[in-house]
Amino acid sequence: MAIFLHHGDLPEGVRFSGSIAVDTETMGLNLHRDRLCLVQLSAGDGDAHLVKISPGVDPVRLKAVLADPAILKIFHFARFDVAMIARHLGVSCAPVFCTKIASKLCRTNTDRHGLKDICRDLLGVELSKEQQTSDWGAPDPTEEQQKYAANDVLYLHPLKDKLSALLEREGRRALADACFGFLSARAALDLSGWADEDIFAH
Ligand code: MN
Repeated sequence: MAIFLHHGDLPEGVRFSGSIAVDTETMGLNLHRDRLCLVQLSAGDGDAHLVKISPGVDPVRLKAVLADPAILKIFHFARFDVAMIARHLGVSCAPVFCTKIASKLCRTNTDRHGLKDICRDLLGVELSKEQQTSDWGAPDPTEEQQKYAANDVLYLHPLKDKLSALLEREGRRALADACFGFLSARAALDLSGWADEDIFAH
């Protein structure tokens, strides 16, 4: 397992295909106020690529990977990351698999669907969430931050496999796929003033 830190953009020569795990770290949870600081990617091979977003640098290679329709993007709570990426990088991430939506649809025996919860329950892995609220705005993330940021993408591939099997077992695969397909619209609603209002409600 290796962690690669890149400043501004992915370097040339780092290629992805098939599916990638993606996560972001930001200055906060407000899509309009808080900037995007870090984008983490993993091919599911145990390595993590961390791209530090630098003011004034257009991450063209990173954006091309995220926008590639031939690459499945695996997130945990995709709603937030997809909106952040749309707002700050101007790209639409599709197709998407969200491990949180998947867990909610097939693991109705529990109401614990955080990444820490599903890593423990499905993989037997204990994740530390200690750095979650640390300051991601500095130009160089600390060693501890890098490890934390990498951990948020390193388990998404095995989680997707486990959750896909459970979705099949419970007959909810098609419903999950429909929800994943709606995520870009969900992100657009969040960014356009319908974050809290349920437009499906009477
Ligand atoms: Mn994270």
